[in-house]
Amino acid sequence: EETVSLVQARLREVQDFPAPGVLFRDITPLIADSEGFGALIDMLADRYRGKVDAVAGLESRGFILAAPLAIALGVGMVTIRKAGRLPGPVVGVDYDLEYGSARMEVQPFTVEDGQRVLILDDVLATGGTANAAFNLVEQAGGVPVGLCVLIELVDLGGRSALDGREIEAILSY
Ligand code: IMP
Repeated sequence: EETVSLVQARLREVQDFPAPGVLFRDITPLIADSEGFGALIDMLADRYRGKVDAVAGLESRGFILAAPLAIALGVGMVTIRKAGRLPGPVVGVDYDLEYGSARMEVQPFTVEDGQRVLILDDVLATGGTANAAFNLVEQAGGVPVGLCVLIELVDLGGRSALDGREIEAILSY
């Protein structure tokens, strides 16, 4: 599709960032381009219109995608953030990273009971972050309808880690 090639042409690959041996997928040239960014949001809005009641963004690049999509869909946006950033009350989920662990939190009053929530992020890698987000939306009383990412890094196994969850990736590498 035309929008997908437009999006793809505006992504950057950065070798050895943020650590040696890592190939980082950088979405900043895409969001700096009004044509590409706008076309992406239009495409996602067409895909999800009428199917979701809220859009949840994962800190912090997920916020950049979730906010305009929420407005385009005429729904609200939920912020899922790293531990300690949101004033309480919050619910939290701890998850393992390759080295150490992390925690994501959400304010449950930002999700209505039974609300269909689409989770949005830039990149799906191992699936740890997204898995925490699915659990958080459920703990907050919502119904997570799926994860939408711009980029899925297939070799890192996120899709199997999220077994049974709905996943939509615009591009896969
Ligand atoms: P996961 O929890 O291993 O799936 O990692 C996903 C999280 O790490 C997402 O919130 C991404 O923003 C971030 N991430 C992992 N790899 C990349 C990358 O190559 N580019 C940008 N973000 C990345």
